[in-house]
Amino acid sequence: MSVPNAGDPGPEQPERPDAEGGTSRWHPVGARAARPDSKSGTHEVDLTGDRTDLPAEVTTALAPLVQRPGRSAVLLDFDGTLSPIVDVPADARPLEGAIDVLAVLARRFAVVAVVSGRPVDFLAPFVPDAVVVSGLYGLEVLRGGRRTDHPGAAPWRAVVDEVARRSVIDGPAGMVVESKGLSLTLHYRTRPDVEHAVTGWASAQAARSGLVVRPARMSVELHPPIAADKGSAVDGLAYGVESVGFVGDDRGDLPAFDALDRLEERGIAAVRVAVASDEVPGELVDRADLVVDGPSAVLDMLRYLAADPA
Ligand SMILES: [Mg+2]
Repeated sequence: MSVPNAGDPGPEQPERPDAEGGTSRWHPVGARAARPDSKSGTHEVDLTGDRTDLPAEVTTALAPLVQRPGRSAVLLDFDGTLSPIVDVPADARPLEGAIDVLAVLARRFAVVAVVSGRPVDFLAPFVPDAVVVSGLYGLEVLRGGRRTDHPGAAPWRAVVDEVARRSVIDGPAGMVVESKGLSLTLHYRTRPDVEHAVTGWASAQAARSGLVVRPARMSVELHPPIAADKGSAVDGLAYGVESVGFVGDDRGDLPAFDALDRLEERGIAAVRVAVASDEVPGELVDRADLVVDGPSAVLDMLRYLAADPA
């Protein structure tokens, strides 16, 4: 099996110093904890070579997935994980090469899934058919070409639509409204100064409509009051596997880490991977088994997982 070379990380990370060499920076948690005063706490790893090039901390962290891919699940967030964060949500795209690597992974692993707050309609064009798409925190799932909605979600479409329209018309100036059908996101990324106005607006709309508020990355989300988050999505996707890895970068990924904690208590091997950025929640990093530096390092990690054993 051939593995694509590490590609250009794209214009969104122009400062990446190691792009020319096809290498990646890794932040194994143990190594950082052991050397808090080191200059960068990072390792330079050439992932275009064989697997033995990786530091022991990384191979140890990923070993449960590598050792039994046919009984493992690899679950990934989208924004900030497979796709660099962008100012305009609709412009988000996975890094070049990510789709190809996901396709290889899907042939190798028991389950590969993208788990996102985005709707399935947005994600599906970027995800190979063999990869499961869990959209809107599991309210929508696309698996093997078949789409299923959470049974309790449908009545909330009209409520979400009304709140979205009202938010466009009467919401705080500078707030960007993104309707996703069964949920909506109110963004302040382009106007951080209106954060409090946006969160206040969201709370008022939640109280009025019955939707519930969830804080997200430079945004607030309004969801149906249905017990669906990335944790419940992971519970469904990881059913029957012996090892599960989850990669995420945001507060909305904490419930996925919670799910991995619960699975671990039942004897399932769990690999929690946090994607570092200026905005990553400290709790996500603190709880991670492995911290990688941005979507380009996620892609390199996936290439490693997709590679034939050395
Ligand atoms: Mg994310």
